[in-house]
Amino acid sequence: MPRPRKPTGPSLPPSALPPALASWAEAIGDAIGRGVIRALHENGISTAGAPAAVTTRRRGRPPKMLASGPVAPERRCTVPGCERESRSKGLCSAHYQAERRRQLAAGKKV
Ligand SMILES: [Zn+2]
Repeated sequence: MPRPRKPTGPSLPPSALPPALASWAEAIGDAIGRGVIRALHENGISTAGAPAAVTTRRRGRPPKMLASGPVAPERRCTVPGCERESRSKGLCSAHYQAERRRQLAAGKKV
């Protein structure tokens, strides 16, 4: 015998609200919707462009390169042409790791 399904979400019967209250709630909802649209128009924000801007916006923390801007010359990696911030021994993390791997491969202890 299959298990009875759990009701998902609010499953109130339509007759839960008295008709007067239901129409009042609908009127409030309409008024709020109209008010929001009017406010958007008054602020010069087009309702057509707003959803696109929301969906194309990046989520989460911005990338570090964009967030911190250009690295000061005295803090840059010493490798010519590399503009990353130096992490250790005057090298950026990528060049430091490359250097470290190179020394490990050569048998040196780092
Ligand atoms: Zn580097």
